Amino acid sequence: MEVVKQLEQLRTTRRKCSDPFGLVPTMGYLHEGHLSLVRCAMSECASVGVSIFVNPTQFGPNEDLTAYPRDLERDLSLLSAEGVDLVWIPEVEGLYPPGDPTWVDVEGLTEYLEGAKRSGHFRGVTTVVAKLFNAFQPTKAYFGQKDAQQARVIQRMTEDLLLPIEIVICPIVREVDGLAMSSRNSYLNPEQRQAATVLWRALGHAGSLYDAGERNAGNLREGMLDVLNAEPLARVQYVSV
Ligand code: AMP
Repeated sequence: MEVVKQLEQLRTTRRKCSDPFGLVPTMGYLHEGHLSLVRCAMSECASVGVSIFVNPTQFGPNEDLTAYPRDLERDLSLLSAEGVDLVWIPEVEGLYPPGDPTWVDVEGLTEYLEGAKRSGHFRGVTTVVAKLFNAFQPTKAYFGQKDAQQARVIQRMTEDLLLPIEIVICPIVREVDGLAMSSRNSYLNPEQRQAATVLWRALGHAGSLYDAGERNAGNLREGMLDVLNAEPLARVQYVSV
């Protein structure tokens, strides 16, 4: 496995990799959710690259950029065990040259749900993913359904910029109690970690209502809100169907 930092090293190593080439962009602190994307890429591509980059432009001023968990050594040993060919760990200045920046901004789709709560978040995501696409020039790129709106926004960006890259969206990997795996779950103390299962219980409740014939989205949302509001540690930002 080649681990590189500089763009020039990345381009040189990438040229030696055979196609189809699969890219898995990550912010590191890897778990089974990330590794499921890597495994899917390995099964479909002749070579696979992973980026590890905690992208500052997708964090709001009051978000957790400096606190975001990191463990590069562990990440690299997990990726090496999967048989990944190439890992890029760029520096911030490598991806964002000094001076006035260029932004990639998908309109419309980014204005609601996550976008309404996190101003500028998706602009940071689409900008960094466009840069990663140009640096790696992958045949396919793999994203998780866990970040459903992000996956859709990236699909739209790829179509709209005429990028010759196939976007593959992989299923959510969950803990045994149903909580979606996430690097940020490490922030939760045991009590909060227990309370977080309310997300899965709320989704399950909506699923039961649906199976019982409910087809009104407002009623499904209300059903989920009832479950979420019964958990004292939970505060709802949005619920959507
Ligand atoms: P992140 O490191 O959080 O930026 O995530 C990198 C990629 O892994 C994104 O495409 C995420 O959607 C995906 N991902 C994160 N957690 C999971 C999960 N539990 N199941 C599937 N994909 C995931």
